[in-house]
Amino acid sequence: SAMYNAKHNGVSYTKFDSEEDSKRLARMQLISDLKYAVKANQLHLNYQPIVDLNHNKIIGVEALARWQHPDHGMVPPDQFIPLAEKKGLIQELTLWVFDVAFKQCAQWHNMGAKITMSINLSPRNFLDPGLPNEISDALKKCKLDPQWIKLEITENMTMSQPEKALEIITKLKDLGLDISIDDFGTGYSSLSYLKKLPVSEIKIDKSFVTDMDNDHDNKVIVNSTINLAHDLGLDVVAEGVENNNILKILKELGCDRAQGYHMCKPKNAEEISRWIFESEWQIEQNNKAQVSS
Ligand code: C2E
Ligand code: CA
Ligand code: CA
Repeated sequence: SAMYNAKHNGVSYTKFDSEEDSKRLARMQLISDLKYAVKANQLHLNYQPIVDLNHNKIIGVEALARWQHPDHGMVPPDQFIPLAEKKGLIQELTLWVFDVAFKQCAQWHNMGAKITMSINLSPRNFLDPGLPNEISDALKKCKLDPQWIKLEITENMTMSQPEKALEIITKLKDLGLDISIDDFGTGYSSLSYLKKLPVSEIKIDKSFVTDMDNDHDNKVIVNSTINLAHDLGLDVVAEGVENNNILKILKELGCDRAQGYHMCKPKNAEEISRWIFESEWQIEQNNKAQVSS
């Protein structure tokens, strides 16, 4: 155990640490459990609405993966997604996400709710040359037009190999998919760099948004990000909107879209279906007419 630790940390020797050892064993057990999670039906997707602040209506949802572990209960994605990424399981997991999320989106469209579906990509997904074909195939299966899909990537994914990133994003864009920059503000890119890529939207990270009603600096950061993004022709989503005061401020600042616990927490498909048709953030009237007809 000490030898593995030393190798992992790139040092020549280390002392055995029983606590570290049990953590390592737990991690290894989790990895082996994760291999079976998709097949064993332990994963499901929750969806969180994204609302349009100019028209006060829902325009899309973000798909968020959940793992109900038979012994440990709900394992958060922050824990199992990095494991899947590291252990080569992320591709299978993401293909499963495409299948389930696209099918769900098509179903909502059939019910009259023409909303977008945002999907999180991990760095490995983004660099996978097979990604455009995999998305096309999954979309064809449920007869969904690519214009309804937004792929969320982080700034850092585009920064390590900028030329490659441009090539990949251009390919995805040519397919008709939209690209959104997630967690904006936490990475090392600038808006002027991002503008060189064919992306249409940035999502301001929740660490700036959740307390912007009390933290003056964060309000200034959100305000200037919105203005600069708009000057560069990019739409802005604020994530982590936890109260009505923040929502009001965002509207005053001209933010285009918002997502957060205040509007709706991530919920399963059935609960979100109800929210889409019954909440105050209603879908467009003509869509609703189709539902009732
Ligand atoms: P993310 O993409 O930044 O997703 C937003 C996270 O913020 C979600 O956490 C969501 O539940 C949480 N959130 C939403 N509104 C609020 C709010 O008002 N306040 C606060 N404090 N938090 C809010 P979640 O579901 O635990 O997901 C964590 C991360 O795991 C995601 O962050 C994303 O990076 C990753 N993830 C989730 N599902 C997938 C997936 O299918 N594929 C990949 N590659 N990553 C995923
Ligand atoms: Ca996201
Ligand atoms: Ca985010």
